[in-house]
Amino acid sequence: MTAHDRSYCNDTLYYVKAPGKNQTTTKKVKVLFSREEIERVLNDIHGNGTTGGHMGEKRTQANIAERFYWRTITEDVKEFIATCPQCQKVEKIKTMVPELKPIYAKQPWELVGIDLIGPFKETSMGFKYVLSGTCLFSKWVEAEPIKAKSAECVYQGLVKWIHRWGAPLKILSDQGKEFNNKMLNDLIFKKFGIRHLVTAAYHPQTNGQDERTNGTLKRHLSKVNIVYN
Ligand SMILES: [Zn+2]
Repeated sequence: MTAHDRSYCNDTLYYVKAPGKNQTTTKKVKVLFSREEIERVLNDIHGNGTTGGHMGEKRTQANIAERFYWRTITEDVKEFIATCPQCQKVEKIKTMVPELKPIYAKQPWELVGIDLIGPFKETSMGFKYVLSGTCLFSKWVEAEPIKAKSAECVYQGLVKWIHRWGAPLKILSDQGKEFNNKMLNDLIFKKFGIRHLVTAAYHPQTNGQDERTNGTLKRHLSKVNIVYN
């Protein structure tokens, strides 16, 4: 991008594209900086928006480039589609041996892996499980004691974290019923605009980092539990 390619308008930076083949006019596209805005655009253009319809990588990227520009557009589109639940469903029918797709986080609390550990020996307060949440960018770990492996208990834990840190952009979980249900969908994911990524059983390493965290937590908690019981 050179100085001539840029223009400012109402505090927004635009990238001015030179006319392509058979075109005479230049085009101005909005430059995006925040992950929130990028997520919204990806969601609108690939998924929910009127022009959406779950297009493939090339079409999605071309549609985005009509109106927006940011540096990591290609890899973000690739990752977004690789983790889009609807596209994954179709992909699963097409081929049973999908390639492994790593998921990256680019800022703190952008992507949080959640999991349940336990059951432990029940505490005097009736707690039996621990809901763990790992920020996959900063490696910060939240751990919340809960009483059962249920949607209600997971909901209570997640609400606490959202009040404490704000809503993450994406939450990654396994396919357990306690994470995949109407209650969490309505009261957490939809309500706070969080994208729920579900790791498929055939590549559990997607969520490997959290599984490792849980191994460490479990060892520590087993010791604590002995003390408190
Ligand atoms: Zn999709």
